[in-house]
Amino acid sequence: CENSDKGYAIYDEQANQEAKRARKVMGMFISCVLNNMNGFDIHFQPIIDVRTGRWCAAEALCRWTATDGTAVSPMEFIHLAEQLHLIETLDNWVSASAMERCVALGLHQREFILDINFSPTRQVKESFINKLLKTLKDTGFPPEKLNLEITESAKMNFDSANISGLKRLREEGIVLSLDDFGTGYSNFENLIHLSAKALKTEKMFLDGIEHDTYRQYLLKMLTDLAHHLGMSLICEGVETEEQFMLLQKYGIDYAQGYYFSRPLTYDQLRQELNRFV
Ligand code: C2E
Ligand code: MG
Ligand code: MG
Ligand code: MG
Repeated sequence: CENSDKGYAIYDEQANQEAKRARKVMGMFISCVLNNMNGFDIHFQPIIDVRTGRWCAAEALCRWTATDGTAVSPMEFIHLAEQLHLIETLDNWVSASAMERCVALGLHQREFILDINFSPTRQVKESFINKLLKTLKDTGFPPEKLNLEITESAKMNFDSANISGLKRLREEGIVLSLDDFGTGYSNFENLIHLSAKALKTEKMFLDGIEHDTYRQYLLKMLTDLAHHLGMSLICEGVETEEQFMLLQKYGIDYAQGYYFSRPLTYDQLRQELNRFV
């Protein structure tokens, strides 16, 4: 680098390396997706019924090991998929494989809910709905055991096509919930459009809550809000026993987090099946 100022030279070099890596990751991502989702896998994170302590659901979380062996974070590759318009391909693969695997484990015959994520940048298109319904039929997974988590985001677009698409999903028996509720962008209108069964709060709500009465009050308020609207509250990111005790105290319905279990591989999930009712 020709910059005389050393600081700039270092910065340029770093930015250059980062741009190079981003290009490489993008290239690997495109080729893996187009090559039959090569290198992609699904992990399942259990969701716990707070009252009984039993496992009652699991969230399917996508994982990707790039061709050079590095595990790329979902935060990074989901964003890439959205930008590259490959998110529909990815989400369709995740939902089909997750349902297949749960059926293989017999989970569809238990008291069990499978959560899958739906990127808010997507449209609830006719093609998506038909594909999802076909997958349900092909795998034999019951629609009422499928929960579509829609992330609360400013990108979410509730035009009339999307609203009627969501309505159709509900009519088919599929459950909808609002993910990352209360972070960044909260529009109560979303609650009305979605007719969600559950609100899911981000880990952020629980960070430091043990010593923070303001956060505890907020959590209590969210629980009351959900319950008044006939919905359940799910808290994500439970990491400590004290946090779990607070959830019990305030009557939160469901919980998910490292305190109970990290996201599990399919084989790990199979070994833990007796934890479900
Ligand atoms: P999310 O849907 O809010 O998923 C929860 C995230 O929190 C997961 O991160 C999970 O591993 C993490 N988590 C759960 N419990 C704890 C905890 O106790 N402590 C900490 N520190 N983290 C915890 P992950 O797997 O990295 O996924 C990040 C985000 O990427 C997800 O957030 C979701 O928005 C998106 N994502 C993942 N898989 C898919 C997918 O198949 N499709 C779409 N559209 N998005 C996905
Ligand atoms: Mg989620
Ligand atoms: Mg979430
Ligand atoms: Mg999240």
